[in-house]
Amino acid sequence: MVDMAHPHSPRIGVLALQGAFREHVEALHRCGASPVEIRTAQHLQGLHGLVLPGGESTVMAKLLVEEGLMEPLRAICCSGIRVMATCAGMILLASELPGHEDQPRLGLMDISVRRNAFGRQVDSFVSTLYVKGIDQTGNEAKDCSEPVEAVFIRAPLVERAGPDVAILATVNGAPVAVQQGNWLALSFHPELTADLRFHRWVSNVE
Ligand code: GLN
Repeated sequence: MVDMAHPHSPRIGVLALQGAFREHVEALHRCGASPVEIRTAQHLQGLHGLVLPGGESTVMAKLLVEEGLMEPLRAICCSGIRVMATCAGMILLASELPGHEDQPRLGLMDISVRRNAFGRQVDSFVSTLYVKGIDQTGNEAKDCSEPVEAVFIRAPLVERAGPDVAILATVNGAPVAVQQGNWLALSFHPELTADLRFHRWVSNVE
């Protein structure tokens, strides 16, 4: 379905079952995209990109199973559109989840992810990161561009990344931004800062 108000702007889905989806919707509006809140499989039609937000991955997984959304979501993620997964979204994409093997998930990306990896003492923190591969405009870049203020909230991190996974940024040597083809997974919350480069990336339709 074409958004009549913005017929040429890309339709970017935001999984809206739980968590920080409203902030992503606002960030996508600021990029000139047409965000679509995803609550049923019908909402997945005609998307040019998809955001899997942060939140509580156990709750999101339960709701995805209850709503019958797991399989349709997996199919759209494999259709070639860009997918940006943040925090709990990264957990949903991970093929391996040590200590939580039974937690339902999409399991598409060749990464092993540790939930709540930074410990209780450092529940939330902000870190200045250099993220390779993506510039301010959301386009591919060879070198690190401007640093990103990255907000981490009970964040996961990547313990193992497969051979097809590019590591774009690290904290203390641990990957916190990874990319495998059209899938971008971030441990932090880009929707909580004014830096729109990742929302521009997911809105860039080739
Ligand atoms: N700790 C949460 C989980 O395991 C993720 C936190 C977040 O998305 N900010 O699902």
